[in-house]
Formats: sequence, C-alpha cells, structure tokens
Amino acid sequence: MKETKILLDENEMPKKWYNISPDLPKPLAPPLHPVTGKPIGPQDLAPIFPMEIIKQEVSMDRHIDIPEDVRDIYRLWRPSPLFRAHRLEKELKTPAKIYYKWEGVSPAGSHKPNTAIAQAYYNMKQGVERLSTETGAGQWGSALAFATKLFGLECMIYMVKVSYNQKPYRRILMETWGGKVVPSPSTLTDAGKAILAKDPECSGSLGIAISEAVEDAVKHENTKYSLGSVLNHVCMHQTIIGLETKEQLSKAGDEADVVIGCVGGGSNFAGISFPFVHDKLKGKKKDTRIIAVEPAACPSLTKGLYAYDYGDTAKMAPIVKMYTLGHDFIPPGIHAGGLRYHGMSPIVSLLANEKVIEAFAYHQNPVFEAAELFARTEGIIVAPETAHAVRATIDVALECKKKKEEKVIVFNASGHGHFDMASYDAYHQRKLVDYEYPEELINQSLKKLPKVEG
Ligand SMILES: *Cc1c(COP(=O)(O)O)cnc(C)c1O
Repeated sequence: MKETKILLDENEMPKKWYNISPDLPKPLAPPLHPVTGKPIGPQDLAPIFPMEIIKQEVSMDRHIDIPEDVRDIYRLWRPSPLFRAHRLEKELKTPAKIYYKWEGVSPAGSHKPNTAIAQAYYNMKQGVERLSTETGAGQWGSALAFATKLFGLECMIYMVKVSYNQKPYRRILMETWGGKVVPSPSTLTDAGKAILAKDPECSGSLGIAISEAVEDAVKHENTKYSLGSVLNHVCMHQTIIGLETKEQLSKAGDEADVVIGCVGGGSNFAGISFPFVHDKLKGKKKDTRIIAVEPAACPSLTKGLYAYDYGDTAKMAPIVKMYTLGHDFIPPGIHAGGLRYHGMSPIVSLLANEKVIEAFAYHQNPVFEAAELFARTEGIIVAPETAHAVRATIDVALECKKKKEEKVIVFNASGHGHFDMASYDAYHQRKLVDYEYPEELINQSLKKLPKVEG
C-alpha cells in the first residue's frame, strides 16, 4: 500500500517531553548576568519567569511529564500528521523517501503553540495574570495570544515594526485572540525610546523587541515574560514533534537517515531533531545527518562566532554562549521574519560546535522556488521560514539521486504560509532581493561582544 498520512491516535500522544541536557556531549556554559557578568541563579530569573519554567530551564531529568491540562489542549491538533511526500519524490525522480511532519495544523498555524500552551499553563498555575512577549513575523505572538486566552491571562505583544507593517493579518489574528499588539521599537518602554531617539525610522529587530518585552514584565505588576524560542525549556516543549515523528516513522517501517529543520532561534529544529540526536549520541544510529537551515542574510550558525553574547539589544537578557552575529546586528528585511534573530539556542549551538549537527544557509529566491515546487506537488503552502527546510530537503534528495541512494529524509514543516501571500507575490514578481551576506555590519557588531571569561 502507498501510505500517505501516518497518524497516531490521541492516546498515543507522548506523555513526557524529552530533555536533552543530561545527554549533551559537554555541559552547557553557564548563563551570565548581563550587568555583573557572574553566573545567574534562579533568583535572577524569578522576576521574569515562573518557578516551574526556571526549574525546567536547568533540569537534568531526561524526561519531564506533560501536565494533563496541557495535553488536553494539545489534543485540539495533536498528534499532528506525518506525510510521505510521494508527489515531490516523483517530481524530483529521487530514490530517497521524503517525509514531512506537519505542524501547520495548530490553531495558530505553526509549531509555536506547543510551548505557548505549556508556558501559559505554568504562569497561570503560579497566579501570574499578564504575559509580555516579542514577535517577529507574528507567529509567536499569535501562538501566545491563543494560549493565554485559554488560560485566562492577558497578553502584551511587541511586534518587530517591519513585520507589523508587512503582515497586518497576523496582528488581527493576535487581536482576535485578545492580545494587545504594538510595533517595536515603541514609545512604551525606555529601551524602545532610546532606539527611536537614535533612529526614528528604525525597522526593529527581535533583539530590540525582546528588550521591550522584558522591561515591560519587570515594570508591571503580576506580569511575566515569555520567550518563543532559544531557551532550553522552549526547545524541550517542542520535542513532542520529534517524539511523535519517531513513532510515526516506525509505524511506516522506516528509520530517518536525514533530519532537517529551519532555524531562527532553534526551537522547531530542536523539536524535530533532539529525539534523533539522542539516538545518534547514544550510538544507536551514529550516521544520522541532522541539518539546520538558516537564511544567508542572517547566518548565525554558518558565519557567526561561538561566543558569549547578550540575548537582546538593550543587554537586559542573560549573556549566553551561542553562535551569534552580535546583539545589535539588525538583519536585512527578508520575508522569513521568524529567522531574523542574531543568536541561536545555546543547545543547538553546542551541538553545531561539536559537529553533531550540520548547518546550511540559503538565499530567498532558491528558498521560494523550493516552496513553490512543494506547493505544486504536495499542495501545502508553507511559511517562508519552513521553505528553508524544504530547500534543503530537495537538495539532499537530489544528492541521493546523483548517488543512487535510497535514504529516508524527514523534515519539519513548521508552519503554513497563508499570511505570507505578499511574500509569495514578491517572489512571483521577481522582487525578492538575495541580500549579500552583510559582512561589514556583522564584523562591526561582533566587536561589541561582552568581555567575559570562557
Ligand atoms: C517562528 C518560526 C520559525 C523559527 O523559529 P524557531 O524557534 O527557530 O523554530 C520557523 N518556522 C515557523 C513557521 C515559525 O513560525
């Protein structure tokens, strides 16, 4: 039989997340306080995160229970389907088998509710009444607006200005779920005002929006901050993707040889890949290739430095060791807004530095070309972020064709592109710019890394 959708029953949904921390080849470098430069403890994070999240951030337990209330909401769209891309394989004439895990079935249209629901839940449990956050393309903001509403919390969202202007429908989505949205830099925070004083036309960046959201949480009563990517607990919440995928592949009688995901802060890539990284590190399947895909205009893994840097532009977030382009680097306004972050998850960075995973970087035009081929074969119109993973998948499948290899490739289809039609339109009209690697800007920005030991 030519199976197309590999499904799990609701009762087969994983009951625990996978925490990769105890299995890493080396311990993570400790996060440092942005002002003192000393290692931070739970008490430093308590003003912005609830205790349960702080515990998860540093936990060495390999498995952490998913609370029943969280699983209950997950059931609205999980387990998500795994598809075999028969028509794409045929079009490419590749002997490789291509699978994709489809996270676009969530209400917000991406993988992000997997962590938004968990974070809103732990905040609600601790009696927090309001969450502040940043959003790039609006994917994270919409996931958190949805999640907070289900647990009765308010949601304040600082949206990177270039996306606020390019993507009004995402703003309306957030507002429909009851979120409050302002373009960042805004005049509501000192961080925003300082940037606007220097550059009134500033188009914003994730680094700036994070500064604003953190400041908002610190200054408002009963408000905490929520981050949609990068951090260890966020990566862990996303591992439900890879855990389900492994079950589904084994139902189909296959094992992954190549696992692919796009990377902004690293969370959906962590989600699909960490359960496979586990098997690779434990020697169960040592030769699995695990590939992170980023935009050539914001190439943290392929061109950044592995060093301690600030997580945000105003230097309020902890200093962490990661691949970075410098905390004040503002990437060109590419259409994959969710991939415009100067840094990278410390865990994903460590795995890249240890060569457990590989990284590819692509320009916008080849990325959209791949997304269009995917739409015309598989039907699904993916987000511009996801399209990076599609490009890499097609390239690996074509390599398999050249070498006559029957590899099993699986990629994470992190979200749909229904709010990104203007980007597809720009591609059709040949208006997409393949920005040169902004070497000079990055070099300048990298001169401003914090001077710390390690
Ligand atoms: C936010 C987003 C990304 C990038 O974020 P990660 O944390 O790296 O996963 C990728 N794809 C989609 C659809 C997104 O919304």
